[in-house]
Amino acid sequence: MHSAQARPPSIDRVLNWAAVAPLLDEYGREPVLAGLRSVLDHARQAARQGDLVDYTEPALASHLASHLAQHHAPRLRRVFNLTGTVLHTNLGRAPLPDEAVEALSMAARHPCALEYDLESGGRGDRDDIVNDLLCELTGAEAATVVNNNAAAVFLLLNTLALRKQVIVSRGELVEIGGAFRVPDIMSRAGARLVEVGTTNRTHLRDFADAIGPRSAMLMKVHASNYAIQGFTASVAEAELAQLAHTHALPFVVDLGSGTLTDLTRFGLPHEPTPQESLAAGTDLVSFSGDKLLGGPQAGILVGRRDLIQRIRKNPLKRALRVGKLTLAALEAVLRLYRDPDRLADRLTTLHLLTRLPHDIQAQAERLLPAMQQALVDWPVTVEAEPALSQIGSGSLPVDRLESWALAVRPTTRRTGVLYAIEAALRGLPVPVVGRIADGALRLDLRCLSATDETDFEIQLAKLAA
Ligand SMILES: *Cc1c(COP(=O)(O)O)cnc(C)c1O
Repeated sequence: MHSAQARPPSIDRVLNWAAVAPLLDEYGREPVLAGLRSVLDHARQAARQGDLVDYTEPALASHLASHLAQHHAPRLRRVFNLTGTVLHTNLGRAPLPDEAVEALSMAARHPCALEYDLESGGRGDRDDIVNDLLCELTGAEAATVVNNNAAAVFLLLNTLALRKQVIVSRGELVEIGGAFRVPDIMSRAGARLVEVGTTNRTHLRDFADAIGPRSAMLMKVHASNYAIQGFTASVAEAELAQLAHTHALPFVVDLGSGTLTDLTRFGLPHEPTPQESLAAGTDLVSFSGDKLLGGPQAGILVGRRDLIQRIRKNPLKRALRVGKLTLAALEAVLRLYRDPDRLADRLTTLHLLTRLPHDIQAQAERLLPAMQQALVDWPVTVEAEPALSQIGSGSLPVDRLESWALAVRPTTRRTGVLYAIEAALRGLPVPVVGRIADGALRLDLRCLSATDETDFEIQLAKLAA
């Protein structure tokens, strides 16, 4: 019996084992064959190193099953974002509202009139799908959409400032996480950066002095992910627009996040909107689709019709354009902005940002026993306590939102236990991502919507088991 287990069975025999039949059903013959070869290779290596290898049907089939499950698991997996950062770039930024999910699954499943004018039966332009809505919501003359805001900035610079100068304040040479740096984008787009002013103070005369025959535009970049405080000065958009226009130059704003509604009406801090920039005389505004707007990844450009036309004609527009899934989701999200009264109920991002602290507190107290039970064998305490969420993605970097969290603290001096629990949470079938800071692991519940609570409790039960 021992010798039968010590020798590997033939591939053909294994494929005929009853225990392997369900795997063949699930994964198909080729993947099971490849998996089996890999499992047997590992087993032979282990045997060579002197390990006792169990080649019986139950042992080998269970190895094969877990190998296949791991190898064929999707890489893009759902997680619980309990980091306290609502628009978390590494976790996919804005979760989409149902309306957008329905629209994009329609566009995914069926042929759709993406570039097809249903009235004339002729060719249409994909920008038409959101052009009118964007104009209605922002007051712009025209709009165009590309892959993300980095692409929008790149495209506008390449179209309007190729081999020419772009004048920007030194206080606005922004780096956004993930290698978006204004100076780098500028040079790759073929534009020459002219920095004016100092890090903390830039005046209108700094811009005026820099304008010359090679100037293409004045540009303002929203300092979205940092704040310069103290002895500071920057120039208002209206003044820059006026200065640009007296020299027949366009004035362009990279707004970064940008939202299409006044956030103060929802009790949130004010975030500049494209409509404000346009009203101040800005010729072109760019912003992201998946930051505060709460939509899919996209870069949106709104402004003067002639400038948008030139941008649309740039051959790079074709390389940077968005697909039908993005347009479907974006259109659905933009439509929600027509009814600001119900926006906080319907737009997921805004719903999460406007959740009331006492609701999150009640949720924390509801989930506390399950969390304590899940960690009963660890040397830790778990408490429900106030926390501060942030908006994320460089939006409103200094503002914090009152929230509640489940906080885990070690009962011994050994803080390593927090990293072990954090890893265990990440290893769950639906990984739970929290944050360790100031000696505690916190699960901020702001982004756990009521409908996800049961799913979360199931994960906690698995952690306990
Ligand atoms: C976020 C941001 C960008 C980049 O936007 P993506 O949509 O992530 O490409 C560019 N500029 C500013 C000011 C930003 O805040």
